[in-house]
Amino acid sequence: MINRIKTKKIYVGDVAVGGDSPISTQSMTYTNTRDVDATVGQIKRLHFAGCDIVRCAVVDVEDAYALKSIKEQIELPLVADIHFNHKLAIIASEFVDCIRINPGNIGSKEKVAEVVKACQSRNLPIRIGVNAGSLEKEFLNKYGQTAKGMVASAEYNIKYLEDLGFDNIKISLKASDVPRTVDAYRMLRPKNNYPFHLGVTEAGTLFHATVKSSIGLGTLLLEGIGDTMRVSITGELEEEINVARAILKDSGVLPDGLNIISCPTCGRIEADLVSAVAEIEKRTAHIKIPLNVSVMGCVVNAIGEAAHSDVAIAYGKGKGLIMVKGDVVANLNEDELVDRFVSEIEKFSLE
Ligand code: SF4
Repeated sequence: MINRIKTKKIYVGDVAVGGDSPISTQSMTYTNTRDVDATVGQIKRLHFAGCDIVRCAVVDVEDAYALKSIKEQIELPLVADIHFNHKLAIIASEFVDCIRINPGNIGSKEKVAEVVKACQSRNLPIRIGVNAGSLEKEFLNKYGQTAKGMVASAEYNIKYLEDLGFDNIKISLKASDVPRTVDAYRMLRPKNNYPFHLGVTEAGTLFHATVKSSIGLGTLLLEGIGDTMRVSITGELEEEINVARAILKDSGVLPDGLNIISCPTCGRIEADLVSAVAEIEKRTAHIKIPLNVSVMGCVVNAIGEAAHSDVAIAYGKGKGLIMVKGDVVANLNEDELVDRFVSEIEKFSLE
């Protein structure tokens, strides 16, 4: 059981972040934001995949104004991601639900103050998005690209916003490696109660990003740290959400979908378990209710696993048993097992 550290609750559109609200998943489009149709198309894909909050890069005035039309066509809360140019943040604030700035590269204090004023007047939260790769010079000179430098930057910017009377804040502290990312979030957590957006940035392709994010975000989640998160993947949009949801599920945070227990196989196996599990995973991806299901290659551990499983298969030679809640309900030929297994799982989702 995870004891989640209680943070201040803020709202990104109608999605609550922090407090006792569920940990939300985020992603980012990779279209030119001014290409409204393509951007809306990507946002709809993300929405379908289960994303809770979406972010678009705003690199010029055309992008900033395109957010109006994008916002009118989507249901997800929309975040504008701004670097370097505070004026874009001010324009974007008219159309979106949250502004993400990296104070290290937005310019003078006065410019940040203008962004704060625009957000204040519209009751929009600001994400202070600190990145190890773009710290302010003073912190870079003093600490280098370290967790300490990231925390110092975050504290400085939090105080600056607070001094302007603004506390509608969430914070991210991203580095491209796990130890710095985890250290930074751990160091900052006891110092305030703002919600944290978790992420390991520039984490690489599906394989590496999954490993890095599982270790980094998983560690933090198990310590009760984190209110919203993005898994950054060089790959397809849906992968970010699938991995994020899997991390939440396997950390025990999100009781959602199937927990598929399958054995690694060994010399006792007498069936094509690898293909069977791949097919089961594909055919049950739509199941959103929390269920434990197990697929075991022989009887050695199958009965024990079946006792903890809602639905189970124990393979034998050319045949296998289907069990529901530990009771054998069928003894079938190998080529009939997957169909029956999936149909038993689907019965649960109809209940
Ligand atoms: S369940 Fe059977 S086949 Fe699978 S790894 Fe264990 S002993 Fe091997």
